[in-house]
Amino acid sequence: MIELDKKIVLNYIIAGGLKKTYKKRGGVCIMKCWVCGKEGANCTRDITAEYKLYYEIPIRKTVKAEHQRCYCKKCYEDTMKRLAIEDKQYVTLKRKRMFENALDKLERQQLDFVKYEEAIKTIEEYNLENDGKFDSSQEIMAAIILIQNRYHIKPQAKVGSYQVDFMFPEDNLILEIDGDRHNFKKSYDKRRDSTIKEILGSEWQILRIPTDMIDQKAEKLPLAIEQLLDYKATNKVNWRAL
Ligand SMILES: [Zn+2]
Repeated sequence: MIELDKKIVLNYIIAGGLKKTYKKRGGVCIMKCWVCGKEGANCTRDITAEYKLYYEIPIRKTVKAEHQRCYCKKCYEDTMKRLAIEDKQYVTLKRKRMFENALDKLERQQLDFVKYEEAIKTIEEYNLENDGKFDSSQEIMAAIILIQNRYHIKPQAKVGSYQVDFMFPEDNLILEIDGDRHNFKKSYDKRRDSTIKEILGSEWQILRIPTDMIDQKAEKLPLAIEQLLDYKATNKVNWRAL
């Protein structure tokens, strides 16, 4: 068993040695393009101007230059273009997936999709056209329920340096959909809320709805909002009983 392990290790070392992207020739290090394999300019281990030309992504300055990927100019430019395109595709896919998760959860909650069709399609379009307007599937679910119930909402509205989940301009109301982690930052929330009220006016109310409620009974959101307002935002509504 030990014999076999040694053999594997030896093979690994040999394979690794062959795969190296640079060769040493009399103290000169010849860089090879990571993508096309073309050998670059001769360059010493020092970062000279010539070296930099063939080593255009020195992101990790703490890692030895010859241990990182290097690119010829053309491959570097192509790689950057490809990454930019992939970044955009990734964001779009992520947004679409989040929306699908939201619909999936609403379906499990037996939401009447025929009744909600217009609201769903409106938010779907809005989600695709506006980057970063929803941080979670729960926010998407909340938005669908809210617009179906004729609330006028502004998702991710800016108040001073803060961004709130939903602003209801006609109702002087801010709604935050809070996850579990919020239990640990109550004092931060208090400061944030008072700053928001200072900016918008004392007549504004800030309500917090747990993501749990949306995940289990999203359709009860308007009722929860009305009850919270009745209780003057004491946050003591038993939403499970709604
Ligand atoms: Zn290349």
